[in-house]
Amino acid sequence: MSTNPIPTKLLKWYSSHKRSIPWRETQNPYFIWLSEVIMQQTRVEQGTPYYLRYIEKYPTLLELANAPDDEMMKLWQGLGYYSRARNMLAAARQIRDEFGGVFPMEYKHIRALKGVGEYTAAAIASIAFNQNYAAIDGNVLRVLSRFYGEFSPIDSSIGKKRYAQLADELLNKEFPGEFNQAMMELGATVCKPRQPLCNACPISAECVALSKNLQAQLPIKAGKTKVTKRLFHYLVLSSQGKTLLKKRSSGDIWQGLYEFPLIEGDLNEMQVMEQAALWCKEPFVLKTISNEIKHLLSHRELRAKFYSIETDELIPQTEFTLVNWSDFENYPVSRLIERWRGSSG
Ligand code: SF4
Repeated sequence: MSTNPIPTKLLKWYSSHKRSIPWRETQNPYFIWLSEVIMQQTRVEQGTPYYLRYIEKYPTLLELANAPDDEMMKLWQGLGYYSRARNMLAAARQIRDEFGGVFPMEYKHIRALKGVGEYTAAAIASIAFNQNYAAIDGNVLRVLSRFYGEFSPIDSSIGKKRYAQLADELLNKEFPGEFNQAMMELGATVCKPRQPLCNACPISAECVALSKNLQAQLPIKAGKTKVTKRLFHYLVLSSQGKTLLKKRSSGDIWQGLYEFPLIEGDLNEMQVMEQAALWCKEPFVLKTISNEIKHLLSHRELRAKFYSIETDELIPQTEFTLVNWSDFENYPVSRLIERWRGSSG
């Protein structure tokens, strides 16, 4: 058994300081997986209602696997990173088809599920099945880098190996699931990115960053990702209570979500209106143009305008669906379109 006192301190701290969060009450691998996928892109306060909605609607993995795509995606709306929801659905179907609907226990099988990376597989294996895998997310990397005074960049391959080694050494082999959660909780609530609460930290006496006053410098990141800019012009067409929507296809952002006819590029109003004739019969009337909405995704900056156009007749095209405005809310759409809806009243 390890003689390192740090894991024991962390476990003790965790048992009395952990926040009460619904998925901490369960060892059901499906619930744990669901919470991990949701929590990869949001904070606990925002993610919890989504988690509760999912388990209410789909209390078992089989119910999720059998859910219609659009219905499942609609529940995800507002969380962003829709590829994660699509992967989650695909993985649920993988479990239904390959494992008879029973969540696999072996790390290699969990890791082979669609969209499940090393971190999520380790979290599920350790929390649901008490297996010795260290789960390393951004919070854990920050704790490790500061605690050990480690300067290897957390996003470099050398750094990844180094942090994996440190995490493995530290892992409590008796309670790996609890230990992993303790590390994540420490990163989320105490060893925060800015102004860590070192006075409240259970391992402050042994922390290198604290003793050398390096908290603000660690962790190090090697590369900054380039941001791509894109200009979107959406044609919000209306004719006799109907509009046109298209489901976005693969190979780009927002796969599987619906949107209005889109023209992309650096175009002026006249150029956009010329293209509107593809979808509506002339004469048509441009009612309003929204202000430009700036929308940030990871690595992308979108700038979008919405052109509200009325016409006597819409021209349906392949890939476009004629939708009653009264049914619009049933279609999963991007956060950008939601923002425009919110601002346009
Ligand atoms: S002492 Fe401060 S910097 Fe060190 S691990 Fe604790 S919170 Fe992080």
